[in-house]
Amino acid sequence: MKCALITGGSRGIGRAVCIKMAELGYHVLINYKGNEAAAQDTLEAVKAKGSSGELLQFNVGDAAEVQNVLGGWVEQNKDQHTIEVLVNNAGIREDSLMFWMSEAQWSNVLNISLNGFYHVTKQVLNTMLLKRYGRIINMVSLSGIKGLPGQTNYSAAKAGVIGATKALAQEVAKRGVTVNAIAPGFIKTDMTAELNEKELAAQVPMNRFGTPEEVAEAVAFLTSKAAGYITGEVLNINGGLHT
Ligand code: NAP
Repeated sequence: MKCALITGGSRGIGRAVCIKMAELGYHVLINYKGNEAAAQDTLEAVKAKGSSGELLQFNVGDAAEVQNVLGGWVEQNKDQHTIEVLVNNAGIREDSLMFWMSEAQWSNVLNISLNGFYHVTKQVLNTMLLKRYGRIINMVSLSGIKGLPGQTNYSAAKAGVIGATKALAQEVAKRGVTVNAIAPGFIKTDMTAELNEKELAAQVPMNRFGTPEEVAEAVAFLTSKAAGYITGEVLNINGGLHT
């Protein structure tokens, strides 16, 4: 059975990616941190597409938890199921001007996005290399490309993941594993719920926020066999906000 693991699959962009992967026939591993009800809703939506899935609860920023839960899954399933697609999507933001930013705000955001990428990817990469096939997609952000005021922590974390994407892509290209990043602008999810959408949308050439489903379509393309010669790239999805 071919499997796709989506971190932060319980809500927002991650949920839309889970549903898209189900449409493509993957068994979907839905990771989440704490919101089990939302994760269950995603699982129901996956099943409604005629596919199967399961929940994997772990904090991507906690090395021991990732090792126990995800490492345990990989070990138990090594003869039957392999993770062909990994979408490193889990992320948080804790915005503050640098002047007021606490050490916790800095390290929480770095830990989940950047260390989370490391912990999770380490658990699934070996099998991809052995099978000589894999697709890794890292959810970054316009902030990691352009830098956004009030988000030095988030911009640093996402820029770090972009660097890691480009480096890893070159390491594993010969083994049929591609590694790409997607950089959304403003997407309508819980993460952007408290922003002033009307005001911010006016800055976007398309005059609106994007949808999680629009991001999921791009993930689907990058995970397809058709995208086999694309690696180390960052795909912007931002309605023309920044080029
Ligand atoms: P969201 O609606 O806030 O959902 C966040 C998801 O990440 C939830 O499923 C949450 O799980 C999970 N999560 C958070 N911390 C985690 C952890 N430590 N371990 C495992 N899972 C964790 O976010 P979103 O807007 O869909 O964003 C998804 C990704 O896109 C993030 O990396 C974000 O930085 C990036 N992005 C978003 C936007 C945007 O405008 N929305 C723009 C650019 C980039 P629970 O449900 O259990 O809490």
